[in-house]
Amino acid sequence: MAAICVFCASSGTVDPRWTGLAAEVGLALAARGHSLVSGGGQVGMMGAVCRGARAGGAPTFGVIPEALMALEVADRDSDDLVVTRDMAERKTVMMDKADGFLVLPGGIGTLDELFEVWTTAALGMHRKPVVLLNVDDFYTGLLQWLKQLALAGFVRPPALDMLVIADSVAVALDAFEQEPDWTT
Ligand code: AMP
Repeated sequence: MAAICVFCASSGTVDPRWTGLAAEVGLALAARGHSLVSGGGQVGMMGAVCRGARAGGAPTFGVIPEALMALEVADRDSDDLVVTRDMAERKTVMMDKADGFLVLPGGIGTLDELFEVWTTAALGMHRKPVVLLNVDDFYTGLLQWLKQLALAGFVRPPALDMLVIADSVAVALDAFEQEPDWTT
């Protein structure tokens, strides 16, 4: 069993298909025998991925800053819920606990988390896979801009290559299992 950290939207106002996608991800990672590391909230896609994982029988591990326990509705149904002092500690704990990172559609918090795990991978600070789920071209605009940055010399091409892009849940989970350092 590997621990997959899922980053995704906390918003409750996005199209229901995105919450459905999050639930599908939770169920799918459970079906493959993985556990979930999450932001420890019950709101939005974050809550949906936790409920999906538990419905599929996966252990869930939540990490939430004390200041967000009310706003993000702390996921007390988690098998383990760690309350951190701040956002920085939350990210550190999530990164330590996970064997890999799966980034779903989200807002600025999700983007912050994506860039944190990706930049630290590109700097050689960890060897955990970072997979971006680009369903319905959600991230295509960002990826095109990043390619322009690489062409202009701002982003090193090997860093760009480290980000694994998947266009479906199955392809995303397959991508983890094909990584040379994957721990299952
Ligand atoms: P969002 O994508 O904006 O809906 O945020 C998704 C999750 O990222 C939420 O749980 C936010 O609390 C979290 N988040 C936002 N900023 C940060 C940060 N700097 N460090 C860690 N988590 C964050």
